[in-house]
Amino acid sequence: MVHHHQRCLVNKPYQDLAAVHEVSIMMSILDLAIEEARKNSAERIQRISLEVGERSGVVIDALEFAFEIVIKNSIAEGASLVIHSIPYKGECIACGFQFHCDGFLICSKCGNFGKIISGQELRIVSIEVE
Ligand SMILES: [Zn+2]
Repeated sequence: MVHHHQRCLVNKPYQDLAAVHEVSIMMSILDLAIEEARKNSAERIQRISLEVGERSGVVIDALEFAFEIVIKNSIAEGASLVIHSIPYKGECIACGFQFHCDGFLICSKCGNFGKIISGQELRIVSIEVE
């Protein structure tokens, strides 16, 4: 696993090292997708759809780039990747107001603290196979 991903980096000197995180995430996602495809006796994966929160710590561009690398020579080669971005939202612990966060979890209505209700997810929504 790790060996494969290091080899990709060496072969592609133009790649930003910041993408290493996304490459390892994408490899895990692809592993899961292949496992699911096999369970369903599918021969090819055509499309993988993900939900990626604004605060998941993942850079979407890097994830898309990583996808193109990891699908090579797999049953997902040529597949498309669909990413749904999920907004980073909080809910005020005092008044219950739901708001979009810009880094601070502070209610834009009453100024109290909020708790995170979305934006940290990173999950597979669907895998289309044939
Ligand atoms: Zn509030």
